[in-house]
Amino acid sequence: MSDSIYPEMIVIAREGCDLTQEELAIRIAYSQTKVSKIESGLRPLPSEDLPELARVLGQAPGFFSTRPPQRVMETGLYHQRSLKTAPARKLKAMDRKVDILQVRIEGLLHGLKLNVFPGFEPVEPEDAASVEDIARQIRRRWGLASGPALGLSERVERSGGIVVLLEFATPKDDGRSFHNPPSPPVIVVNRSKPGDRQRWIIAHEVGHLIMHAYGSAGRDAEREADRFAAEFLMPEEDIRPELYHPVTLERLTALKHRWRVSIQALARRAKDLGVISESRYIGIMSEISRRGWRKHEPVSVEQERPTLIDAVIQHHREGRKLSLAEVATVAKADLSSFCAMFLPGQGPMRVLSA
Ligand SMILES: [Zn+2]
Repeated sequence: MSDSIYPEMIVIAREGCDLTQEELAIRIAYSQTKVSKIESGLRPLPSEDLPELARVLGQAPGFFSTRPPQRVMETGLYHQRSLKTAPARKLKAMDRKVDILQVRIEGLLHGLKLNVFPGFEPVEPEDAASVEDIARQIRRRWGLASGPALGLSERVERSGGIVVLLEFATPKDDGRSFHNPPSPPVIVVNRSKPGDRQRWIIAHEVGHLIMHAYGSAGRDAEREADRFAAEFLMPEEDIRPELYHPVTLERLTALKHRWRVSIQALARRAKDLGVISESRYIGIMSEISRRGWRKHEPVSVEQERPTLIDAVIQHHREGRKLSLAEVATVAKADLSSFCAMFLPGQGPMRVLSA
């Protein structure tokens, strides 16, 4: 059995658990050298040790014989700039957790007939009038009326994508996306962020998926994704009439209720649209800092609630009459790791006793 194992999958699983080779070696009673040799493919994993290795790393044994995920597009790479202060090991653990997520989603979707939506067909910035024009095209393509883009996760999922909320390793890190056709594009969002931040992350990642599917060499991909998010969530035509003078914090707070974007994003939008001057913007931002709103803004926006993965799990349980443990195996995960990822606060104990 172990001759069909991909050593790289051991590395992915180990790093996804944020373990060093030494830490893994202790847990499975190997020497670090032995772990190192197995991970480099220099010696095989004894097949009788596979179940224990899988258990320690939170996977089903089948995980290790799965072909390593293709990183066709890893927009996490674009985040280097904003994340330069986050610890490298934590970021790597998160990247590997996203690889594991990809394997699990592909396992869950395997054999299901998914409708193919054109919602995420790429549009290259050089083929459009502007990044903002692409954001408007996508709003139209997705059937969004004018005004705030509400029900964002649902809209993504009806347009052919998947949104997953995950625990992130560091609060500085908050979003990822990947698209590995024919699987649908997946947007991963930090579960602990407020709703307005989650909505921004989703719109930003949609921007990457649409505009940077073929790479972004020579362009400022982060800035483009932010410009996309700004126009997608706050179309100029709709929001400009609401940003009338004087633009005060009270006014921006009222707009946050309606638009469900942060006060800081609204202030930035007012500046970018030329409604307020650079110096007025700086004044607003320092008042925001003084009030402690950079960390905790007033007006709580409901967190995102994607439903597609839940529906797929339900389909396996009810349609195919699988137990939750069997669904976890379909996803190549062990039960508790599966529940922690996809059914937080529900299992496995609660779900099993239900
Ligand atoms: Zn980005």
